[in-house]
Amino acid sequence: MNWAWPCVWPEDCSADAGSEPRAPDRPADGAARAAGGARPAPPAMLDVLSVLDCLVEQVGAARERHQPASDELLLALQAVAPALLEPALDLIDRSAVSRLVAPAGRAVYRVLGSGGVPYYCPQPLTFCPCPAFQYTVLQRGDQPLCKHLLAAKLAQALGKCADTAVSDPHLRDLLTELH
Ligand SMILES: [Zn+2]
Repeated sequence: MNWAWPCVWPEDCSADAGSEPRAPDRPADGAARAAGGARPAPPAMLDVLSVLDCLVEQVGAARERHQPASDELLLALQAVAPALLEPALDLIDRSAVSRLVAPAGRAVYRVLGSGGVPYYCPQPLTFCPCPAFQYTVLQRGDQPLCKHLLAAKLAQALGKCADTAVSDPHLRDLLTELH
């Protein structure tokens, strides 16, 4: 798939969304973040993920200004994640995303998949235990993330992610089961 696209390095992207834009052929420092010893996403996908994080951040900034995401912003998201945006928005519409927060401050996003299976994605949102993440992100490297991760990122930015308090041991058990 050709991820070349004409648009935008948003001017107000903050450093945690991936710092400065990288040239497409430059090796990415964050390649080792993929989990479990599987082949990490190729650098091009990490660049796509950085752009996506910038756009999601702009969605959140628009919400803070009490404005809807602009058409241009939605089109840019669609261009970056054409196969994922609609399924992710559908999950948000179905209130499938929530966040479990423990007193010590750690958090896990719970995303109910299309079949009702809950997937637990730890914060920061870089890993999902679903089969699509394993296959399309870690093995084939042709997607920057899965629909559950995109739904969690967007739900947070849109303020559509309810927090649920859980105990530290409960959250620790959830995180342990991911590995
Ligand atoms: Zn997933």
